[in-house]
Amino acid sequence: MEKKKDFLRAIVEEDLASGKYEEVVTRFPPEPNGFPHIGHAKAITINFGIARDFGGRCHLRMDDTNPVTEEEKYAKAIEDAVRWLGYEWDGPVRHTSDYFERLYHYAVELIQMGKAYVDSLSEEEIREYRGTVTEPGRRSRYAERSVEENLDLFERMRKGEFKDGEHVLRAKIDMSSPNMQLRDPLLYRIRHARHMRTGDEWCIYPMYDFAHCLSDYIEGITHSFCTLEFENNRAIYDWILDTLRLGPPRPYQYEFARLNMNYTVMSKRKLKELVDSGKVSGWDDPRMPTIAGYRRRGYTPESIVNFCNAIGISKANSVVDVAQLEHAIRDDLNPKAPRVMCVLDPLKVVIENYEGSEELEASYYPHDVPKEGFRKLPFSREIYIEREDFSEHPPKGYYRLTPDQPVRLRHAYIIRCKEVIKDEEGRITEIRAEYYPDSKSGADTSGIKVRSAIQWVDAATGYRAEVRLYDRLFRVENPQGPEDLNPDSLRIVQGALVERAVIEEKPDERFQFERQGYFYPDPVDSSDEHPVFNRIVSLKDSWAKKSKKEEKSTKETAAKATQPKPEGAKKEERKESSGGEGRVAPLDEAQRRIFDRYRKKLGLKEEQANPLARDETLRTLFEAGLEHGAAPVTLANLILNEVARELKNFSLGELRYGPEALAELATMIDDERISVKIAKQVFEEMSKSGESPASIVEAKGWEQISDPKAIRPVIEEVLEKNPENVVKYREGNQKLFGFFVGQVLKATGGKANPRLVNELLIQALG
Ligand code: ATP
Ligand code: MG
Repeated sequence: MEKKKDFLRAIVEEDLASGKYEEVVTRFPPEPNGFPHIGHAKAITINFGIARDFGGRCHLRMDDTNPVTEEEKYAKAIEDAVRWLGYEWDGPVRHTSDYFERLYHYAVELIQMGKAYVDSLSEEEIREYRGTVTEPGRRSRYAERSVEENLDLFERMRKGEFKDGEHVLRAKIDMSSPNMQLRDPLLYRIRHARHMRTGDEWCIYPMYDFAHCLSDYIEGITHSFCTLEFENNRAIYDWILDTLRLGPPRPYQYEFARLNMNYTVMSKRKLKELVDSGKVSGWDDPRMPTIAGYRRRGYTPESIVNFCNAIGISKANSVVDVAQLEHAIRDDLNPKAPRVMCVLDPLKVVIENYEGSEELEASYYPHDVPKEGFRKLPFSREIYIEREDFSEHPPKGYYRLTPDQPVRLRHAYIIRCKEVIKDEEGRITEIRAEYYPDSKSGADTSGIKVRSAIQWVDAATGYRAEVRLYDRLFRVENPQGPEDLNPDSLRIVQGALVERAVIEEKPDERFQFERQGYFYPDPVDSSDEHPVFNRIVSLKDSWAKKSKKEEKSTKETAAKATQPKPEGAKKEERKESSGGEGRVAPLDEAQRRIFDRYRKKLGLKEEQANPLARDETLRTLFEAGLEHGAAPVTLANLILNEVARELKNFSLGELRYGPEALAELATMIDDERISVKIAKQVFEEMSKSGESPASIVEAKGWEQISDPKAIRPVIEEVLEKNPENVVKYREGNQKLFGFFVGQVLKATGGKANPRLVNELLIQALG
């Protein structure tokens, strides 16, 4: 049961306590004219959930009164959805069409009472006569027909003597009611169409307002829950049952707020348009907000029910953040899904000093998951890592593999890059590496400091897989139509690699691919011969991240550089924390293209490409700097971290340096002539004096010290001054390594080449 009782449950509880009903009977009454969506999931959890909580029953009733739009396949999808969500309806699946004969007789009864009449106005006239909210309507001249004439016409309507629209049956209520719904509502209309269940038996069909209350009554429903748009229809609901003197006990209608969700369209009509126009692959396209879509994508029923319960039941319409649904699936999978490794964009790594092969033992579950399970993880000389996990010219705060920075292979060893092999176009094709035999995960005695662990897949035993990276179907909060579709809602990766256990062991249905997200084998397209994985959800809310990043991209990148975190790729990832606040508008078309080009062609990171794509001033400077031969990533860092700050107070024209100087500075960093830290000081000087970076560096003597002969004495001095720490370090306190690095850098005024300091310290400390 809910933590706090909602208003619908409060009503039910009171009605049972007062003896108004002996048992609660609810119903879920979908029209089979489309696949059910997440809004229906809410209605399902309310109707079935309340019946379950109070020991009552819930019916499933197909509201099949419009033969033109309804199909069996939709009815089937509705049944599947209810069952998949974990509910079972009481008795058989019911249909409004089961009651067509009885409904007809109720209509005849109303005519006999003088409470309904056959109207022969055209559709247009009916609308015109109805009046407006401020003006009363006029009653049709046909309302004066006698009971006999009405009975005769209605019978002939049923027999098929008239064409569509020639006559309708209307209730005689009040043409001047302030509630427009009560201005003689339509009860029946003529439709010469084949009905999915009754075939050609009927050519008149009851309207919702007439059929719904009576179907509820016939089935013994006690509480008829519907969405707020039906609030004004409640008066008809009551009028019909009261006029026909049905009950008590009789059902009453209660309205709750429908679910609206941002980045989502929630109307079967609009969803059908997407399907019919081929914008999605079908009703069960994993991007669709349909139950079938979520199911195929890999959502669990629990996550959807939890989401519906979490958003609660309210009397006021509001828009729920889709991030809440994504949160619900992460929450559900986090403690359940085994962690395995997958590489989406494989980069070959040959470990030159490794011979043979071995099988490492690796847990499927992190420490805080109350499940146990291991798999054997094959390891050999050739492996693949994520292309993104190697950077030849790493930006600040890059913690993964670089020519200078070793990295841990998750569950395995630490490796170091020895050589980068490229093709004619300069694209990296292979990394030659070496591993440290004494660095095995769990038994690491190597003392080597790494800042992160990355995923990898053994070349000999891994499986090729197709991976479908799904993102939100719409790119705007309040999508109107196909023009708002997110062009990146599906990215297909063909040559991904998954570790052996994913295919051969299948410890579970859903996986977490470490650092990538949660994944599920596509139930339609996946096979062992051609595995296809759908990304259910990424590990973090990248949409919230994007907007947050934009606000503080500059600050953050700077902070990353100055606060290196100790071991663990997880840490690096987690820093980019999620959170829903502060949304920023998505990139427009042109910005998007620039963003894509910067990401793909120039290799910028998302948080670099994004602000540059948005800010024309920064971009102009950046492009001009590239002309002068700077490496994109380094230049982007300079501009976003340093120049952007200055531009808060100065215009571009007021800066004392231009793109050429920035490019020079970037190149000095890349060539390791100065450290990143010194570069900041150079920049300060540049902006004050307007001197060129090279002359500043020369004048100040800031040239980076990259000569081992110059650094070794400094190291010796530092070690001599700190004998206790040396002992502690040698006894196994590896955290002290950073202390030594810091001391040496300090002693050289920040000028020593940090990479070299690392290497030499490792040697000196033994
Ligand atoms: P749509 O407007 O998406 O086409 P509908 O209301 O026409 O949907 P029905 O098949 O008539 O769809 O709905 C079946 C039940 O589900 C109704 O009781 C309706 O109130 C409820 N329902 C439909 N959409 C939502 C929603 N977004 N949130 C909550 N309940 C909903
Ligand atoms: Mg409807």
